[in-house]
Amino acid sequence: MDSHTAFCPNPDCPAKGHEGKGNIRIHSRRDQRYKCQECGQTFTQTKGTPFYRLRHQPEVVVQVVTLLAWGCPPQAIVAAFHLDERTVSDWQQRASAQCQQVHQHLVEQPRDLGEVQADELRVKRQGAVVWVALAMQTATRLWLGGAVSEHRDRRLITRLIEHVRQAARCLPLLLVTDGLAAYGTALKRVCREPVARVGRGRRRLQVWAGLCYAQVIKRYSERRVVAVVRRVKSGDAGRVEALRHKAHSESVLNTAFIERLNATFRQRLSALVRRTPALARRTASIEHGMWLVGTIYNFCTAHESLRVRGETVPRRWQERTPAMAACLTDHLWSVKELLSYRVPPSRWQPPKRRGRMSREMKLKIMQWCT
Ligand SMILES: [Zn+2]
Repeated sequence: MDSHTAFCPNPDCPAKGHEGKGNIRIHSRRDQRYKCQECGQTFTQTKGTPFYRLRHQPEVVVQVVTLLAWGCPPQAIVAAFHLDERTVSDWQQRASAQCQQVHQHLVEQPRDLGEVQADELRVKRQGAVVWVALAMQTATRLWLGGAVSEHRDRRLITRLIEHVRQAARCLPLLLVTDGLAAYGTALKRVCREPVARVGRGRRRLQVWAGLCYAQVIKRYSERRVVAVVRRVKSGDAGRVEALRHKAHSESVLNTAFIERLNATFRQRLSALVRRTPALARRTASIEHGMWLVGTIYNFCTAHESLRVRGETVPRRWQERTPAMAACLTDHLWSVKELLSYRVPPSRWQPPKRRGRMSREMKLKIMQWCT
């Protein structure tokens, strides 16, 4: 237990989310509980993680989640670990919610993305089709998020582009996709900034200046690619070329990187589709699986193409994960570390009241809001 890295999870506490401010003490080593000196509440070490209030040992949960994330069918896990199917499904949901929180906290922070590739994946199971749209930053292979829907339409693509926008700074950005027209519309609708107000009325929104969009369309005949058409749909051709060159050294515009990621997701997701006749439940279980597979891909999987020569002599190869390449972390995470990571809650906001503020409130604001 480490009281320097723990923080108070109480949503009403002024100290919530603050680390290393001396307000957290160890309350009980036996029960693994901390106490917040500010609000006086105690909380367990696992509060806010998938392990919270679970009867099973964390090691078992980690093993099961690891198997799920690599596409092991839940039925196999039920048989091997003597668990109830509902328990496995509950752990999958808990782990997926954790992954989504970690993704929002660490990946969806504005940065210079350069080139982004996006594509949609068709997951078929028992007579129905579910679409999973995915996006990645090409240079770091970082998965930027995804969206799941029963229809391959503009709403699906808009939700995907919203994830990309969360992770992007308003800097030159190139999106490379297949021929689906919805990307161009969604990109222009989502990537906008308010411009300086002239006169009265609502502030006008303007599409980001450096936004480029290109398509790579493959024509097939008998399952083989017979022709590839590359089109720059918006943005300056010189800028498109510069952004592409910065992201990868391959000679032409392509969607090869996202296609490789798609193959990984397809392999791991199809096993996770629950055997249920209801399409909505199947869609939900694919969405849970997507966050799990994607976040473990980002933080817990080293990529051969990302490895670099070490600084010290002898200059050994250093393995890197997409999260390391994007400077989100300095080491490869274990699945246990990912599941134990406590995402701090948003900072405390003093209550809005009329009239004079009490001395006590002023002190609290000075201590926790500055
Ligand atoms: Zn507290």
